[in-house]
Amino acid sequence: MKYNRIFNFSAGPGQLPETVLEQARDEMMNYHKTGMSVMEMSHRSKDFLAIFEAAKEGLRKAMCVPDTHEILFLQGGATAQFAMAPLNLLNSQNPHADYAVTGNFADIAAKEAKKYGVVSTSYNGGPDYTHIPVQSELTLDPTADYFYYCANNTIFGTEWHYVPETGSVPLVCDMSSDILTQTVDVSRYGLIFAGAQKNLAPAGLTLAIIRRDLAGHAMPITPKIMDYQIMIDKDSMLNTPPCWCIYMLGLMLRWVEEQGGVQALQKRREQKAAMLYEAIDSSRLFTAPADAFSRSCMNVAFRTESTELDAKFLAGAEERGMKNLKGHRLTGHMRASVYNAMPIEGVQALCDYIRDFDKEN
Ligand SMILES: *Cc1c(COP(=O)(O)O)cnc(C)c1O
Repeated sequence: MKYNRIFNFSAGPGQLPETVLEQARDEMMNYHKTGMSVMEMSHRSKDFLAIFEAAKEGLRKAMCVPDTHEILFLQGGATAQFAMAPLNLLNSQNPHADYAVTGNFADIAAKEAKKYGVVSTSYNGGPDYTHIPVQSELTLDPTADYFYYCANNTIFGTEWHYVPETGSVPLVCDMSSDILTQTVDVSRYGLIFAGAQKNLAPAGLTLAIIRRDLAGHAMPITPKIMDYQIMIDKDSMLNTPPCWCIYMLGLMLRWVEEQGGVQALQKRREQKAAMLYEAIDSSRLFTAPADAFSRSCMNVAFRTESTELDAKFLAGAEERGMKNLKGHRLTGHMRASVYNAMPIEGVQALCDYIRDFDKEN
């Protein structure tokens, strides 16, 4: 393969499209005749502001973000949002939120929110986290300040395939691992956030999309840097933003457009997931732990019946140029993360290997 690159099935940071990396390389030393790289530019300069605006507009277009919602470029990863969401959205007088705990990250987020208010759990899928609740399995609290869920459970390989109906309770969603892989009706959400390093850009940028009327009520203890309203007022530039990552997001968004937009990427993600689950389901050796209707299109978790065979499979995969298929230490299973930048050929190579391994063992 070009540059001796491999198929990188890492859960995050994920692989980036080759053409995006090539463009970043070509523009590295002298960006558009400015005589400097984007990394060296003032964030207040005309050149950088053009990059910033293009990334923001590109995202607004790609996700059809309505005018009611603001796009923020933040830092601290999804993990900072676990605190920022409750600090801003909880009612200071009677703080109370509702969390659907369908995986490790939702569990961490719920624990963080408990520092600032009362948290009820509308669903808890632990400790196995193989199941995503259907609407009727959620015990919703209609008085909650917001309802929180994690759209795709990166570690356990499960994904919500519908948007929960919560009436007038605002929806807050962690989309770190499936943002920009399918169309989303942003108007249904109060807050969407995502660490960039899976589908958007290198690590260091955090995206937040917030309904404007939900900002401006932060708890008095909220640090300035974690106040959505202040970040809206400052257009994400209270301090130096992650300039290089925002530039890379802009390149990624152009790539998304070249691919045919989010709708085309959604078709591709469904195709890639179908190929992998088909290879697993039709094998003798491999099983997928997630419930059939909860299976993630982004992180395909699978295993054989023995850790020895798993280890043998992983070693063979490396020899074939497929890396980072070992799952999270919490689960013990293997995992293929197939974000937007994973080409069909990578998925095909993995499916072929699964079939060969199944025959030979
Ligand atoms: C990776 C991930 C996180 C953690 O993100 P950071 O940016 O490292 O804080 C949180 N939630 C989900 C769903 C993730 O995939």
